[in-house]
Amino acid sequence: MAKINENFAKLPGSYLFAEIGRRTAAHQQANPDAKIIKLGIGDVTQGLVPAVIKAMHKAVDEQADPTTFKGYGPEQGYDFLRKAVLENDFKARGIDIDVNEIFISDGAKSDCGNIGDLFDIDNKIAVCDPVYPVYVDSNAMAGRAGEYDVDAEAWTNIHYMPTTADNDFFPAIPTEKLDIIYLCSPNNPTGTVLTKDQLKAWVDYANDNDAVIMFDAAYERFITEEGIPHSIYEIDGAKTCAIEFRSFSKTAGFTGMRCGYTVVPKALVRGGQNLNAMWNRRQTTKFNGASYIIQKGAEAIYTPEGKRQVDDAIDFYRNNARVIKEGLEAAGLEVYGAVNSPYIWCKTPDGMGSWDFFNKLLEEANVVTTPGSGFGPAGEGYIRLTGFGDAEATREAVQRIVALLAK
Ligand code: PLP
Repeated sequence: MAKINENFAKLPGSYLFAEIGRRTAAHQQANPDAKIIKLGIGDVTQGLVPAVIKAMHKAVDEQADPTTFKGYGPEQGYDFLRKAVLENDFKARGIDIDVNEIFISDGAKSDCGNIGDLFDIDNKIAVCDPVYPVYVDSNAMAGRAGEYDVDAEAWTNIHYMPTTADNDFFPAIPTEKLDIIYLCSPNNPTGTVLTKDQLKAWVDYANDNDAVIMFDAAYERFITEEGIPHSIYEIDGAKTCAIEFRSFSKTAGFTGMRCGYTVVPKALVRGGQNLNAMWNRRQTTKFNGASYIIQKGAEAIYTPEGKRQVDDAIDFYRNNARVIKEGLEAAGLEVYGAVNSPYIWCKTPDGMGSWDFFNKLLEEANVVTTPGSGFGPAGEGYIRLTGFGDAEATREAVQRIVALLAK
């Protein structure tokens, strides 16, 4: 008999977005004339920039001609994109990594999940709370998370690090020994960032304890403040302890295109094994490369024209985030994020529960948000809003919330 992976049966249902959808639909049905505005959306909404479209059209035409046709490509990604990434995302920032440390993929979600292939079941995992759920669920599927405690809404073998306004959104350096630590900056969902000193403390901890940091920089392009690290490799010592995930999804509207990359330094060695060589072996076995056409589109965001256009698109979302932050602050709410992120993390008024505030905004302002508790127990008492919507609708939604709270 085929024995299945019993860990799947332990996974709690992922009800967050289904439940938001259910409540939104029920409200619309009960109030057919209500003009509902969604500020909970975590997906981009603007089209791809012209430079990307132009590059992809050209790549499509190349596929029609046997002399330029591309079949299976390199599993690690085409050199043209790896080199563009190296020059623009790293060398331009004074970061010295090797082109063979960059692995192009179909997105950061797959890589964040697949990286677990390199690690034994017997590892202590640490995540921030609230958290992007992929880190937790992918470890649970592999059997590394222990058992799920329904009351605590937590896994027994996962070390949760609360990151809230109370600790300035900095996951405390632990006194115990942890093996694999997931850090995300700019953070989803809190929109906050880690400073160089904070990251340095984690890098030192990881090197001292032979741990590995999984650094998710999917929202790096949204950083505006000087001095905030865009890559963990800006920190001395990171190459011997950290893997970095990047994505073109939020950078350049590639959520539906699927492209990202992961950096695995050659200096990263654990248990006598080189993780760069291991990841290369894993990818060449289980992955056949990202599409040529998509990689050509991604390359175009590094041209002067593409860069300008992508900057404009990011500014559009940033401006929405700023409008939300300023509006909610003016309404007297405690608001975090938005400055280096498309996400706004807002404390509920008067100690209201996340879902209660969600309901109030939906029912009385026709605005959809995301309850913070859906990202982990420490997200209780917050909601997440995003700058990914339409500019006009975003302004209107903020006005409605401000008017509601002024009542
Ligand atoms: N990492 C974080 C923190 C995210 O929020 C997301 C998407 O929402 C991803 C990774 C996934 O990125 P990709 O679209 O490249 O798979």
